Amino acid sequence: MKVITNSHQTPLVQRSQDAVWHPCTQMKHHESFPLIAIARGKGAWLYDEKENPLLDCISSWWTNLFGHSNPRINQAIADQLEKIEHVMLAGFTHPPVVELSEKLAALTKGNLGHVFYASDGASAVEIALKMSHHFWRLNHRPNKKKFVCLQNGYHGETLGALAVTDVAIFRDAYGALLQSVFTIPSPDARKAAQGENADDVARHAANELEKLLEVEHHNIAAIIVEPLVQCAGQMAMHSPQYLRIVRALCDKFDIHLIADEIAVGCGRTGKFFACEHAGVWPDFLTLSKGISGGYLPLSLSMTTDKIYQAFYGDKTQQGFLHSHSYTGNPLACAAALACLAIFETESVLQNNIERSSDLTKAFAWAKEDERIEHWRQQGMILAFDIKPHLLQGHSNFAREMFSASIQEGILIRPISNTIYVMPPYILSQAETIQMGKSVHSALNRTLA
Ligand SMILES: *Cc1c(COP(=O)(O)O)cnc(C)c1O
Repeated sequence: MKVITNSHQTPLVQRSQDAVWHPCTQMKHHESFPLIAIARGKGAWLYDEKENPLLDCISSWWTNLFGHSNPRINQAIADQLEKIEHVMLAGFTHPPVVELSEKLAALTKGNLGHVFYASDGASAVEIALKMSHHFWRLNHRPNKKKFVCLQNGYHGETLGALAVTDVAIFRDAYGALLQSVFTIPSPDARKAAQGENADDVARHAANELEKLLEVEHHNIAAIIVEPLVQCAGQMAMHSPQYLRIVRALCDKFDIHLIADEIAVGCGRTGKFFACEHAGVWPDFLTLSKGISGGYLPLSLSMTTDKIYQAFYGDKTQQGFLHSHSYTGNPLACAAALACLAIFETESVLQNNIERSSDLTKAFAWAKEDERIEHWRQQGMILAFDIKPHLLQGHSNFAREMFSASIQEGILIRPISNTIYVMPPYILSQAETIQMGKSVHSALNRTLA
């Protein structure tokens, strides 16, 4: 590493490039697409060191629900800070973690009444996978150790989570390190043939699952899905019918259903949990990202009383001995409780119905645009694809579009040829309209 002697004279972005290895990034690309140094945030806006504003249209990577520097969340963390910042959760407990667990259980109407905590989303996925297999072991079915996952699915980047992820760019370099899984077709509604609808695609995809389970169910612990939207997989959306069929197949063949709601939970799709659109409950449900309002790393895996009881006994090894140092961190739980209080007192789900229709209107232009296909929306996620033939001559459309959007004063981060917005739940009507117009201008600039 370069040793920086006069760091106060060196621009922050240069120092960052020298000392910080940034996530999900080929660092050399920053030679032509410089890092952006953020000095502060307020509401849906980020401000760089020169006070240039940027509208955060992707909720800081799908985490921020109620704006940056939200007074209620700030206060809740400050209040908790005066009491206890952290204590280990093995052998100890504290009010925020108890209250949060009770509130989450109530949101599942008691169906998923036991909450196990971690810090990052990927860790919550690891927990669900381990618990599922361990449950079958405890039930004298140790062969049930394989997992079923969907094409185009994403569940995080630790080795267990990456094994059930099917996004080539994240997975390919590590294939040799990953356990083998069954990967089945995605119910992605974009695959509908002429005359078909999303339910037809769901049925075809579920048929493939049924065929697999008929042969392999003795060896399978669980299937993991992202309910309704495969977010990292280019915001591919599917019919809730898929979840109903999968739930029924899981019951028939004795397979756990893991609903990874890390991106789609917390009201993003229009209901608090995306599974509620289908009227089904999984055996495991993972949350992270939005649950702490985008403030602090917090993730969790919820499960049923039946699964919890299987681990309950006199023998230590019968227990679930997994742990992370910051499990159930009080500050993070306090932030999450503040978010749930906002949901309740500010009728967030109710108001989001109107917000999502504002979103529809702000992007009405894209429905008519000849350059665009597969316009789609699920609650507070809106996405569309640029027709592939238009991208010839663009070495990296997503990055060019990102740069153009920064020049328009908005933060979006296209995935391949998919442009999407996933804003915090606080945009005014005027900000939503501005977002739609700025995306349009950035697209015109990029494809000019
Ligand atoms: C982001 C994401 C994860 C991983 O969460 P991290 O906090 O980044 O580890 C897992 N599953 C889904 C569906 C996600 O969107």
